[in-house]
Order: sequence, then C-alpha cells, then structure tokens
Amino acid sequence: MKTNEQDLEMYQAALQLEYPWYVIRKEFDLNNGRLDIYLDFDRKGNFPCATCGTKNQPFYDIVVKERVWRHLDFWQYTSFLHAPLPRVRCEQCDKVKAASVSWSRPGSGFTELFEFRVLELVKEMPVNAAARIMREHDTRLWRTLRFYVDKELEKQDLSKVTKVAIDETSSKRGHQYVSLVVDIQQRKVIFATEGKDASTLKRFKAELETKNGAAEQIEEFCSDLSPAFIQGVKTHFPNANHTFDKFHILKLINEAVDEVRRQEQREIPELKKKPVCLA
Ligand SMILES: [Zn+2]
Repeated sequence: MKTNEQDLEMYQAALQLEYPWYVIRKEFDLNNGRLDIYLDFDRKGNFPCATCGTKNQPFYDIVVKERVWRHLDFWQYTSFLHAPLPRVRCEQCDKVKAASVSWSRPGSGFTELFEFRVLELVKEMPVNAAARIMREHDTRLWRTLRFYVDKELEKQDLSKVTKVAIDETSSKRGHQYVSLVVDIQQRKVIFATEGKDASTLKRFKAELETKNGAAEQIEEFCSDLSPAFIQGVKTHFPNANHTFDKFHILKLINEAVDEVRRQEQREIPELKKKPVCLA
C-alpha cells in the first residue's frame, strides 16, 4: 500500500467515516496552520434522510457541490472537512430530500465532535473564553449552544416539580438582572428570565403551564426578602408556603449587627481601641 493511501486511511479511521463516505485527499497549509480534508462518497450508496431520519435511502443527486465543516484540530492544525452534500429519494417523505451526514447535524457548520467539545467547555467557562480556546467566533458558538439548549428545553417536563427557589443574579457587569428558578429536589435550574420584579413569577407560572405543570402543584417557594418576589408568590402561587432562605436572613442579621457595632463605637470610643496583649 502506498504511503499516501495509508495516510488517508488514517484520517478515515480518525473521522470514523463509514461507507459510502471516504477521504479523497488532504491539504496542509503549514504557514496558516490549517488542514483541509476532502471527502467524497460512492454514488451507489444509501444515506439517511435529513428530514425524517429514515435510514438507507437511495442517492438521488448532489445538492451542494462542497460544504465545509470546522472539525476538532488534528495536532496543532485548525481542521476542516469538505464534502459534497447528497440528496436522497426518501420513501417516507415521498420526495427528494437532503441527506444527513454522519459527522454533523443538518444546518451546522461544525462537526458534532467539535460541537460536543464546545458544550463541554461552556459548562466550565463563559462562551467567549471557550471561543478563544476553540479559535472560533463566539457568535457561532452561541448558535450551537442555543440549538442544544432549545432541544433540551423542548423535552423538559415540569409536572413533578413541587419545591422551588428563586434568586436573581446580575448579568452584563451588573447592569441587567436575571432571575433563576431552581427545582430544589433535582438541584437543577428549570427556568431563567430577565428582570427581578413580580412579573418574573408570572412568567415562571406560564412556563410551568407549557411544560405539563401548574401553579397549584408548587408547595414550597423559597426566595430572599424582596417585596417583588413576596408579592409575586402571593399572587401567582397561592398554594405555596413561602420560605425566606437562611443565607439572605443571616446576611440581614449580620448587617444589623455591624450597624449596631458601628453605632456603639461612635457612642463609646473605648470600644475602638485595639485589644491589649496580656502575654
Ligand atoms: Zn424523509
């Protein structure tokens, strides 16, 4: 076997390509640290339909001569796959439809392995930090992230949720607020929305209803002492016991103790003196 053939087979194995797909050539651009891998397929092959997912549909024609997907790096090289995009005559759809390819979901400019790596990174860091590591625009990473988040959210079932907690956090360097609702039993964020006023509770109620749930099933609602949350829970979740969480109450107690301490120090200056060392 010629070295070049062995070489291409190595890429084929690394990409886990199966018939009818195969690697036809590769190009290294050493100056720009880029590797381009070109694929083709046997015209006698069958493909899954991208619309309905039915497997083994016969090849019909080529709809795009060459599509490009960003892939995980091979060594230090930014790597891209190039391939023609086939169409199939789909029995199920009873039409000619685009085929799906094994390395990428329809419509994505990344391979699945690249996307999964992005998803792993964004669990640990902000999207723009992940974009720097992957050497990719963060807007493209956001698009990937939105796709997978929406896909998971579509499957979300909130019918069993009974105990929740809400808290706000600031986004965009403190200029905007986001409220997060957590399922206390599952220890999982189940809803996020902009703002921290009473309307956030109204939106959570609407979300519950679209995900097989109802406001009446919520037995416990935990939050800080924000009047907006107190009002929102009372209005939209009348069945819930409203508990104020320990963290926020202790914070208030500590602030009160500090205030009293400062007041006493003003009134009794001796308290300000440093303690005398008796040793
Ligand atoms: Zn189909």
